Amino acid sequence: MNQTITIKVKLNPTNEQIKLIDNGSLDYIKTINELVSEMVIDKKTTNKTSASVITPLNSAVKNQAIKDAKSVFKKAKKSKYKIIPVLKKPVIVWNNQNYTIKGNNISMPFIIDGKSKKIEIKADLNNDIFDTLSNAKLGTLRVTKKGRKYIAQISITLNIEPKTNGQVMGVDLGILIPAVATTQNGKVKFFGNGRQNKYYRRYYKTKRAKLSKAKKLNAIINMNNKEQRYMHNQDHKISRDIVNFAKENNVSVIRLECLEGISKTTRTSRKNKKNLHDWSFYRLSIYIEYKANLEGIRVEYVNPKYTSQTCPKCGERHKANGRSYFCKDCGFRTHRDLVGAKNIINATVIDGRSLSA
Ligand SMILES: [Zn+2]
Repeated sequence: MNQTITIKVKLNPTNEQIKLIDNGSLDYIKTINELVSEMVIDKKTTNKTSASVITPLNSAVKNQAIKDAKSVFKKAKKSKYKIIPVLKKPVIVWNNQNYTIKGNNISMPFIIDGKSKKIEIKADLNNDIFDTLSNAKLGTLRVTKKGRKYIAQISITLNIEPKTNGQVMGVDLGILIPAVATTQNGKVKFFGNGRQNKYYRRYYKTKRAKLSKAKKLNAIINMNNKEQRYMHNQDHKISRDIVNFAKENNVSVIRLECLEGISKTTRTSRKNKKNLHDWSFYRLSIYIEYKANLEGIRVEYVNPKYTSQTCPKCGERHKANGRSYFCKDCGFRTHRDLVGAKNIINATVIDGRSLSA
């Protein structure tokens, strides 16, 4: 089954390269806007070729701009010229014949001193992204600016065979233990280092308080970014480990708790809104879903009600006592942190929550 997704990669251009991107992107949208207004006046699609479009862009890029302009014009025509889109956000696009990804660089042609020249720009290509890109059919490369950052958006098509008839795996996200997974046939794994995360959070909190007293705004912003990066990296690692564990154990469906609107459930004390925000359960589930989907593993969300209290064997409800869970009704005993994951396997699946990758 073919799936088209967009991979976003941060670029680290030099000052010289920033000038090339900035000028190129302005020329790119200017070209599109001019072509669109010409077509709107003529009320027909342009027959201009790259040779007849005069702008300091590489001919392949000009062709891409003509293509984009035609599709913008199509929309305008469809609205009977009531809506004539004008591009404002600078962007520049290359087709898959005109850029290459190698090592930690993405290369694409720019016009320098009137000549087309391929430029290598450093990019944050981690192993995950690199693996995904090497197994994919590459589409267009768009470079845009987000705040002060330059982002490469690479459209890719992957052939993903959905896994079927495998194990169902329940994953319980938590605070002390970031994630616990268990499969129907009883394979269990604990993920992440909750204690370490807690330590880092406290460390940053204390530092932040000190700086805030000293009114050092920039330092606080920098630290927030550092903390964010730390948590992002943790979530990436945990989600990757979870999906690898699923692959190793022939899992075709991963079930996670649906944690939206958590305040309506009885679980407010265990995973309340503050914790939901703090520990980014939501973000972690998105990462898991994204990585799982790339492997053909489906992710389902279940009702989180009583998943931590219900006896996985007989269905009676008990509060866990200390580190272990013991059911007075049927004698079932297990590690308390495993109860949630076991119950998630069999909990009611909630329809209609779809996350985009
Ligand atoms: Zn029981």
